[in-house]
Amino acid sequence: MSQASLHILRTTYGYDSFRGQQAEIIDHVIAGKNAFVLMPTGGGKSLCYQIPALCREGVAVIVSPLIALMQDQVEALKQLGIRAAAINSSMSPASVGETKEAIRRGTIDLVYVAPERLLMEDFLGLLGEAKIALFAIDEAHCVSQWGHDFRPHYTQLSVLAERFPSVPRIALTATADAPTRKDILEKLHLKDGRSFIAGFDRPNIHYAIQAKESPKQQILRFIQTHPGESGIVYCLSRQNVDDMAAWLNQQGLKALPYHAGMDNADRSRHQQRFLKEDGVIMVATIAFGMGIDKPDVRFVAHMNIPKNIEAFYQETGRAGRDGLPAEALMLYGMNDVAIQRGFIENGDAPETQKRIERQKLSALLGLCETAGCRRRILLEYFGDKGGDCGNCDTCQVPAETFDGTVAAQKAISCVFRTGQRFGVAYLIDVLLGTATERIAQFGHDKVSTFGIGGEFSKGDWQSIFRQLVARNFLKVDTAGHGGLSITEQGAAFLKHKETLLLRRPAPPRAKTRLARPRRMEGEPTGEDHGLFAALKALRLEIAKAQNVPPYVIFHDRTLREMAALKPGTLEALSAVSGVGAAKLSRYGEAFLGTITRFEEVTAPG
Ligand code: ADP
Repeated sequence: MSQASLHILRTTYGYDSFRGQQAEIIDHVIAGKNAFVLMPTGGGKSLCYQIPALCREGVAVIVSPLIALMQDQVEALKQLGIRAAAINSSMSPASVGETKEAIRRGTIDLVYVAPERLLMEDFLGLLGEAKIALFAIDEAHCVSQWGHDFRPHYTQLSVLAERFPSVPRIALTATADAPTRKDILEKLHLKDGRSFIAGFDRPNIHYAIQAKESPKQQILRFIQTHPGESGIVYCLSRQNVDDMAAWLNQQGLKALPYHAGMDNADRSRHQQRFLKEDGVIMVATIAFGMGIDKPDVRFVAHMNIPKNIEAFYQETGRAGRDGLPAEALMLYGMNDVAIQRGFIENGDAPETQKRIERQKLSALLGLCETAGCRRRILLEYFGDKGGDCGNCDTCQVPAETFDGTVAAQKAISCVFRTGQRFGVAYLIDVLLGTATERIAQFGHDKVSTFGIGGEFSKGDWQSIFRQLVARNFLKVDTAGHGGLSITEQGAAFLKHKETLLLRRPAPPRAKTRLARPRRMEGEPTGEDHGLFAALKALRLEIAKAQNVPPYVIFHDRTLREMAALKPGTLEALSAVSGVGAAKLSRYGEAFLGTITRFEEVTAPG
């Protein structure tokens, strides 16, 4: 490993050692070679181009589609004492001019640009005259139509290979399946380079999925296990967002709504508060999240099932970018399945696309109903193999299974006997022999399945029906009303009567032990909570004075370590992870002061 890069890691960033493949990637790029990097969110991709940018002569050009993020990235680098700037449409002509001059003179280390800007002839001309250290293409999946975020301008980035053949290029992404990867290598001419593939796992995120019982209360209980922490609550509709945000406020929490129906000014104000204040809960539709790289989002809750596993992984992936433990909780009920099914069927996608979407929804239901490890299913979905994780609800509180053959036969027969058009609530009433007016009206109190399901409760039957849908024995109607009908697979099951193991419905949540995330390796331990709060307050004050998000001053991990080690000198403070030379000289005294004062006040005697 190059000594220069380790020195920069320690003095500039204040970190001890490289993670995973970072050192290898960095050496590779410093040597002037091309690279493709697939690393999960929070894996530490930025260092892979930032450190080579500092080691190689000239300015590094970072291509990023997320203009909204550039300013924060630049700010974070400046805090480390690195000379960085962004050029994009939101900057004044004067500051663009200044940055261009700095590029020309070589007095800047990193420049972030949007692809549209980079591809302008005059900008390429400017780069032609300057010394370029490297090109980094962030969010490289944008180059591919297979990816979920195609940007046509990205495809033209092939010009970099043609015009600057001797400048190394590093393309980075956290999301790329096999066809997307192939596209990236081709379109960016990276086939001669090396690929560094780190997989998709986010080990610090704890996953849990619960059947919907009393959704607001379930989410509230979950949030209450994260006092004072930032998180996101995803809802399906704007109306749900407004409702839930108002309700959480009534419960004394700092919750803000965010959806596409709000005017721009309010949306942006709420987003800024989420980034800049501590402990804000964003209640949002999926309109929120793209381009948010706040590192200390501690939880993501879904009030409803998302569209598919990709969406789930992306949305929950916004938690825990700093590598500290974070939690994802999703609630789901049959009604959600009906709604998602309705979205698919009533959309205008061609039939082939709809078929894919139906399969994806089934895969998500499989995840919801599994008795096995959730992470395993998620990772297998993306092509990664692994064992049970020990950090999800099903690993920690293993689900019991039971022989559900007879139960499934009763449920499916009931669907058949009532004409394959009723929803779960009605079917359960029939199975339990509840004499409702509606049942009498349709004469379903006379069918053979009326009252044959007394061995299970209503909640048990709900779980059984969900599992039968998840296994594709039953399907939810296309109109989105929730009527169930029997699939070919369901009919075959009735005919052949194979044994079917089902997951035993969990008792109501209030009574069960909530599975909790486990601690992460290298996570600071034994911090003084009072001191941590005091350090956070100091950080907020400093951040406010500079109008920057608190995490660009210090990450939570750094403050937690300070609150555990309680360093008494600047030298001791510099040993804390995340305290580099620039931050030590700017903020060292202030943080030491808080630590010392706290020690005096709380010292015994
Ligand atoms: P990504 O871009 O892959 O999502 P980042 O580059 O933002 O991830 O890194 C995630 C977090 O991990 C950041 O807070 C970063 O400072 C930190 N980090 C990266 N590399 C290291 C390392 N070697 N040691 C300690 N922290 C690191």
